[in-house]
Amino acid sequence: MVPYVKTGGLGDVIGALPKALAQLGHEVVVALPYYRQIQYGGWTIHPSNIFFDVYLGPEGSPTVGILDGRIPGTDIPVYFVGSDPHFHRDGIYEFSDNAARYILFSRAVIQLAQSLGGKFDIIHVNDWHTALVPVILKTEPQSEATRDARSVLTIHNLAYQGMFGEGAWQYTGLPRRLYAWDRLEHQGAINFLKGGIAYADMISTVSERYALEIQTSEFGAQLEGTLAYRKERLAGILNGIDTDEWNPEIDTFIPQKFSFLDLTGKQKNKEVLQDFFHLPRRNCPVIGFVGRLVHQKGIDLLAGVFSRMMEEDVQFVMLGSGEYYYHRLFQDAHRAHPAKVGVALTFSNEIAHLIEAGADMFLMPSRYEPCGLNQQYSLAYGTIPIVHDTGGLYDCVIDYSREGAERGTSNGFVFHEFSTGAFFHGIQRAIEVWWNGQEAWKLMQKNGMSADWSWKRSAEKYVKLYERALEVPYFDDRQ
Ligand code: ADP
Repeated sequence: MVPYVKTGGLGDVIGALPKALAQLGHEVVVALPYYRQIQYGGWTIHPSNIFFDVYLGPEGSPTVGILDGRIPGTDIPVYFVGSDPHFHRDGIYEFSDNAARYILFSRAVIQLAQSLGGKFDIIHVNDWHTALVPVILKTEPQSEATRDARSVLTIHNLAYQGMFGEGAWQYTGLPRRLYAWDRLEHQGAINFLKGGIAYADMISTVSERYALEIQTSEFGAQLEGTLAYRKERLAGILNGIDTDEWNPEIDTFIPQKFSFLDLTGKQKNKEVLQDFFHLPRRNCPVIGFVGRLVHQKGIDLLAGVFSRMMEEDVQFVMLGSGEYYYHRLFQDAHRAHPAKVGVALTFSNEIAHLIEAGADMFLMPSRYEPCGLNQQYSLAYGTIPIVHDTGGLYDCVIDYSREGAERGTSNGFVFHEFSTGAFFHGIQRAIEVWWNGQEAWKLMQKNGMSADWSWKRSAEKYVKLYERALEVPYFDDRQ
């Protein structure tokens, strides 16, 4: 959870969503393991007088202590579940006793709710780590605070499911009958996420398209059947972006602020971007890329179109780090075309902002993309995205079509087939419009820049999801 501790997009969501929900008038509390990284972060966090024992099978019933904080700048409570043997470590996720660690956390969340009293309407859990919360709520006796609580499970990345050998079952404290193919057992192992999918009142993922994709064998990571079975309870809600940080009108990282009413600042940023990468200040499209250099992001497709792209009158700038092979690839590209290719093989928020602000186009040929932030940043900065037709990219980008009915709303270029041919065709179309269709280009920029990418919009959809969770028939599995 930003700002306390972050390993990926989930951290941004938990940092932003509670605040956006509170702004809509809802009462929210957040629970988080008290990781070592938080203990050393200098936050104002105080021990509370809440302590309880949590059943953990072979580990007995360790005592956890709750610490009390507030999301900085707000009065939204964050309760930290303290258990030093489990969370005071050099790392977040990479441990062999993760089953025990997150069973402890999941049980502690429910016991915390009971200690706080009142009545909880919704318990919203994220990814496999807390996917047992819906299971426990529906299979064990609950006190007043959680008896009527409904659960929502959000899947941020289906690739991580929390799979453990059968030996870990004894830590769960769950009845043995739940170790079954339509509950928590999956291909001879325990699968926490599957349990959450089976028991949550509502399930969501981070884009509408990804919610459909994960019901297919291509994207379902072996859980497509389970997800398809629960499709009536499955929704997709796109993550918002942090509009305090990613807004060209107030962005403090970029040399010139701009808006869709006046794009002259963007042109100046383009020149600074060209200078930064030691490229000549020429009047040609500057194509950008920012991202992790990994298989998921379709870097091989980019490599496949590179020489053809270099035959066009363009410049290309990229920022990213990841697999060594891809680093070499971009270094070689720079050596071969020093006046056309700028390469930064590092992690830098500042350069990321400069590319989004200064480039004309932005490439995202991802194989799959549960949500994706960069296409949203690009749209907000008038940088036309060229994206593969998948996940959150599909949800955000409306393809340009010269005569098509969508001409008035399009904001980028979408290619359908995951192939170098289709990708290059998308790039070519963009280059053509950039040179010969100034009005159309401006309209696309305006469409992207004037759209609402804020968390408020996403939070409103989560509220609807919570309302649905409260309405759907309750599946009680206590015996
Ligand atoms: P993913 O979460 O799969 O990496 P997203 O597009 O959802 O992809 O989010 C990636 C985030 O990380 C964006 O904010 C992007 O700007 C940032 N990012 C990725 N690589 C870099 C880098 N090398 N330098 C700076 N920011 C980066």
